[in-house]
Amino acid sequence: MHNNDSNFPDILNQLCLLIMVIWGCNVHAAPLLTEREQAFLAANPRVVLGVGESFEPFVIKNLDGTYSGYDIQIARLISKHTGLEIDFEMGTWKEIQERAKRREVDGLLTAIFNEERAAHFVPSFPYFSTTSLIVVKKGNPEEITDSSDIEGKKVAMQRGNVLFEGVLNAITNNVDIVYFDHIHEIISAVASGHADLCILDETTPYIAKKTGLEDYIEVAFAVGKPENIHILIRKDQPELQSIINKGLSLIKEEQLLEIRNQWFSLPEKSINWPFLIKIVLSMTALLGIVLYWSYTLKVARGRAEAALAELEKKDRELEAANRILSQLSITDPLTHLYNREKLNKVLDQELNRASRYGTPFGVIMADVDHFKKVNDEYGHPVGDSVLIEIAHILQANTRSVDIVGRWGGEEFLIISPQIGHSELTSMAEKLRALIEQHTFPTAESQTASFGITIYLPDDSAEQMITRADQALYLSKGKGRNQVQAVLTDSTRSPTL
Ligand code: GH3
Ligand code: MG
Ligand code: MG
Repeated sequence: MHNNDSNFPDILNQLCLLIMVIWGCNVHAAPLLTEREQAFLAANPRVVLGVGESFEPFVIKNLDGTYSGYDIQIARLISKHTGLEIDFEMGTWKEIQERAKRREVDGLLTAIFNEERAAHFVPSFPYFSTTSLIVVKKGNPEEITDSSDIEGKKVAMQRGNVLFEGVLNAITNNVDIVYFDHIHEIISAVASGHADLCILDETTPYIAKKTGLEDYIEVAFAVGKPENIHILIRKDQPELQSIINKGLSLIKEEQLLEIRNQWFSLPEKSINWPFLIKIVLSMTALLGIVLYWSYTLKVARGRAEAALAELEKKDRELEAANRILSQLSITDPLTHLYNREKLNKVLDQELNRASRYGTPFGVIMADVDHFKKVNDEYGHPVGDSVLIEIAHILQANTRSVDIVGRWGGEEFLIISPQIGHSELTSMAEKLRALIEQHTFPTAESQTASFGITIYLPDDSAEQMITRADQALYLSKGKGRNQVQAVLTDSTRSPTL
């Protein structure tokens, strides 16, 4: 199946490779394969490389059976550069090495090259360099700080891993070794205290993190020289070695670095984007609803407050209008004194009070003399102004408890509480004199006649008004501009 003759001298092979590398780097094209290599490729278009289980992140077997990882990417680049198809077969490291020695696979990925292996394999150019690390339980309870501390300790090792065994043998043989197939088992053994230490490499943080054990272990110190990692190729196929080396040499430094960073930086906790997006959208929607409702409530509240303010304003206006109305309903529009309606009400109240408590009160009826003449001589507006001025004289010269009103036409009525006959006469006389003495703007001097009466027990409003009217009639009859009183009721018994 595989081509076995390999007479092409190694030095020439390397020289050829060097030329290819220089040429490949300059023009970035596929390397020229020698005729022998091309012939090999034609006869063996597909080779199989063995990979160890638990070599993550060098080789990772995915759930669907495909492979990924650092070495797989390197192998794919080799395929791309040379046209060589590479397949992989996985087994425990010990088992796959045996199979490679038996040539059941064409070589091994992720291997160091040593004397023992030289009997079976030739190495590719190195494509990775690794340093061994002494890893201990977190907190380093055994206080392992240098190589001498490893003596007599219990060490967890990977079965068939010559690299780590070599490192350990270089330090001491006096250790108690426990073997495992998988790196994560080794890390678990150290994390749980079943082993005091293990020898691992840069892949440790990756695996520890992946298995959730990164918080339970720590690196105590680095040991040994950096070791190169190669592809080991069956010794009987030098063309395969040179083809693989040509493929490797065409991988650029920065490309190698990028792949290294991709696989040896710690895996990040994966973000559940759909969940995160759902959360963000839900929060945004919730915030939107809250903002919308708070805005709606604010608007509604604003409207309600405005409506309330408007209502209060209307209420105040209504109150004011009512006050004005009720004022108007009791006020004479010309003189602004109380009108006849109000006078009647007050008279009734005073009569009630007088009949209940026996408190005295009286009324004065006043009538402008020859007022018709004023209108006739000066006109109606002058007549109005005379009425206004007389109203003012009456209002200004009575007590605050006295109620002054316009009875009708040029007649006025004053209701005076808590007053007797003589005081009432004096008040009427004073008012009469003031009117007589007053100089009216156009109508010059005017007079008024007064009729007074005092409350009599069981009086009615009508009876009091009648007596005041009678007294006024007396004043008019006796020549006007005077005060007359009627203090008895002619319709009642003379004894009253
Ligand atoms: P007397 O001394 O007998 O009372 O004579 P008089 O002219 O005052 O009495 P009369 O009853 O004959 O006339 C009253 C006049 O008062 C008639 C009316 O035109 C006038 N008068 C009544 N109300 C008003 C008013 O509001 N304004 C004006 N300018 N005149 C009025
Ligand atoms: Mg009159
Ligand atoms: Mg008159």
